[in-house]
Amino acid sequence: MTEIGIGLGSNMGDKAQQILTAVHELKIAGHVFDLSLSSLYRTAPWGNLDQDWFVNACAVAKTDLSAEALLAEVQRIEIKMGRTRVVHWGPRSIDIDILFYGDTRVETPNLTVPHAELLNRAFVLVPLLELKPDLKLGGRPVREALARLDATDILPIAHSAVAKAI
Ligand code: ATP
Ligand code: CA
Ligand code: CA
Repeated sequence: MTEIGIGLGSNMGDKAQQILTAVHELKIAGHVFDLSLSSLYRTAPWGNLDQDWFVNACAVAKTDLSAEALLAEVQRIEIKMGRTRVVHWGPRSIDIDILFYGDTRVETPNLTVPHAELLNRAFVLVPLLELKPDLKLGGRPVREALARLDATDILPIAHSAVAKAI
């Protein structure tokens, strides 16, 4: 079993519900275990700024899949949930990224792990560090990266708002 970090994002339709649906899909497929989900956060768009706000969250879990098989699994769930790639970094019903896979580095045409932008994105680091405040990757505490970023527009969504969305 390998410990994994997963990043989840949505900025179309019922954003919070789509995060919860993606987590449910990950759990029921039978290869992702002991999953913990962070709070859900309302975040400003990144990359392509001319689009709606996002809901972002992270999950930490264990898997018996290889990193490549896990990528195939998350892509299967994205497609099942109606994800279409129209614009790079554009609107999407669901985005599921592999943030880390144990302490393993992967560098293939289809997969970069740890995620290439992990240390540059407050909307990923805030939920991830909520789950694993002492996480280290490549021997370095991940929280050092967050200290260099602006996290003022990463706002936790009230539990009542999430409960309403379920
Ligand atoms: P970003 O990768 O900057 O967050 P994105 O999530 O919008 O952008 P996608 O269009 O969802 O990008 O994915 C593009 C490709 O990235 C995927 O087809 C996948 O092969 C590749 N990829 C590389 N590393 C990863 C990773 N760690 N997790 C998920 N996809 C990855
Ligand atoms: Ca992404
Ligand atoms: Ca992605």
